[in-house]
Amino acid sequence: MKKTIYPKLFIGYLLFGILGFIIVSTITSHLLFDYVQSKEASNLYKEANLIASDYAFSYYSNAISLTDFEQRLEALDTYLSAQIWVVGRDGDILVNSRKKSDLFPIESIPDFNISDFNHQYYRTGFFYNYFDTEQISVYAPISVNYKIRGYIIIHKPMHTLVSYHNGLLKITYFTFIILFLCAFVLLAIFTYMIILPIKKIARTASEYAAGKFEHPVDIHTNDEIGYLAASLTYMADELNTLEEDQRKFVSNVSHDFRSPLTSIKGYVEAMLDGTIPTENQEKYLNIILFETERLNKLTMGLLELNKYDSRGTFLDISTFDINNTIKMTVQTFEGICKDKRISFELILTGQTLFTRADMGKIQRVIYNLIDNAIKFSPSDSVITIETMMKNEKIFVTIKDRGIGIPKESLGKIWERFYKTDSSRGKDKKGTGLGLAIVKEIIQSHKENINVISTEGVGTEFIFTLPLYQPEDE
Ligand code: ATP
Ligand code: MG
Repeated sequence: MKKTIYPKLFIGYLLFGILGFIIVSTITSHLLFDYVQSKEASNLYKEANLIASDYAFSYYSNAISLTDFEQRLEALDTYLSAQIWVVGRDGDILVNSRKKSDLFPIESIPDFNISDFNHQYYRTGFFYNYFDTEQISVYAPISVNYKIRGYIIIHKPMHTLVSYHNGLLKITYFTFIILFLCAFVLLAIFTYMIILPIKKIARTASEYAAGKFEHPVDIHTNDEIGYLAASLTYMADELNTLEEDQRKFVSNVSHDFRSPLTSIKGYVEAMLDGTIPTENQEKYLNIILFETERLNKLTMGLLELNKYDSRGTFLDISTFDINNTIKMTVQTFEGICKDKRISFELILTGQTLFTRADMGKIQRVIYNLIDNAIKFSPSDSVITIETMMKNEKIFVTIKDRGIGIPKESLGKIWERFYKTDSSRGKDKKGTGLGLAIVKEIIQSHKENINVISTEGVGTEFIFTLPLYQPEDE
C-alpha cells in the first residue's frame, strides 16, 4: 500500500499534544509555583514589616500593652491565615498569635540564627523542625532606636500555596486543551486545503508518467498549489504535442524516404530481370540518379536541422555587407534563371549595408528563399529582392510573382516536410525542409521572418537582420 502523509501528520499532532502536556506539567507548573511562592512571600514580608514598624515598635516603646499587641496579632493572623511570632534575637518566642501563655518566653527555638535566612526575606521548610508540615516563613527585624530588638516571623503552611498553584495550573491545562482542539481544526483545514490537492496532483502526475495526458489537473485555486497544478497541466499539454509532433515527424521521414527507395528498387529490379531492355537503361538510371540526389538532399537537410535542434546553435558572427551577399547568391542561380527566363530586380539600400550575423547561414536563408521563388514562379517572371533600413534593423524582402501559397497553408509552411498540394505535383525533388531551416537560422539570430502571399499573385518573404553602424564601436 502507498504510504500517505496522514499518519505522519497525526503522529505530529499527537506528539504536539504529549509534548505540550509534559511542558505544562513540568516547566509551566514549576514556573507558576515559583511565581506563587515569591508573590506570597513578598505579601507576607510587607505585612511583617508593617507589624515590625508599627505594632511591635509601639509595644517596645511601651505605647501599647502586651495584651493589646497580642490581640492585634491574633486579628492579623485570622486575616492572613498565617501564624505570627515575635522572636527575640536569641530565638525566644516572645509572642505567638496561636499560643496564649503566661510563660515568658513561651518557647525557645534552639539553634535559631537569623543568618540562616541567607540574606533572603523568606525561606521554606519546617523551621528548625518546629512544624510538622512545610511552611513558608518570612521575617522582618524590629528596630527600636536603631537597635534590632527582635524579629517578626510569619509562617504560612505551604499547602495553602499548593492549592492556589493547582488552581492556576488547572486554568493552564484548560487553555492547553482548547489550543489542542484548535490545532485539530487547523489540521483539518490544512488537510482539506493542501493535502487533498497534493494527492490529486500526485495522482494526475502518475497518469502523465504513464503517458496518459488526457486529464488536466482539476485545481483552480489562486495560490502556489493552483500554480503547480496549472504548470503540470501545461507541461502535459506540451509533452502531448511533442509526442504528436514526433509521431508526425517519424511518419513524414519514413514516407519521404520510402517513395524514392521504392522507385529505385523497382527500376533496379526491372533492369536486372530484363524487363527494361539495356538500350532503355540510361533513362531509368537517370531517374535513379535523380531519386538518389533527392535522398541525399533529404539526409543533408535532416542533418542540418538536427544541428539547430540541439539548442545553443553555434553562430559564427561577423560583420558583412548584406547587399554584396545577396548579389553573390543571386549569381549562383544564373544558370537556372537563364533556362526559365527569370530575371532579378535588386533594390538595395546604399552602396553597402553592413550587418552582424553568421554570413554562411544568412547566405543559406537567401539561397533557400530564392530557390523557392524560382521554383514556384512561371517562366518570364521577375523576382524582386530589396533591402531596407528601419529602426536599427535591416529588412530583406524576396518577392516573386508565382503561384502563391493558399491561405490555409500559410501557417504550416515552416513545418518540417510541409509542402502545399500544388507544389507536390510541381516540385518532386523538394523535401519541405528548406523553410524549416530558414526559420531555425533566423530564430537563432533572435530575428524575425514573415510571409505575405496571395494565391495566383505571388509571395513575399521578409526577414530582419541587425544593422551594423560603425559608430557602435
Ligand atoms: P526544398 O526547400 O527542400 O527544396 P520545398 O521548397 O518544397 O523543399 P520549403 O522550402 O520548406 O520546401 O517550402 C515549403 C513549401 O512552402 C513549399 O513546398 C511550397 O509549397 C511552399 N512555398 C514556399 N515558398 C514558396 C513560394 N515562394 N511560392 C509558393 N509556395 C511556396
Ligand atoms: Mg525550398
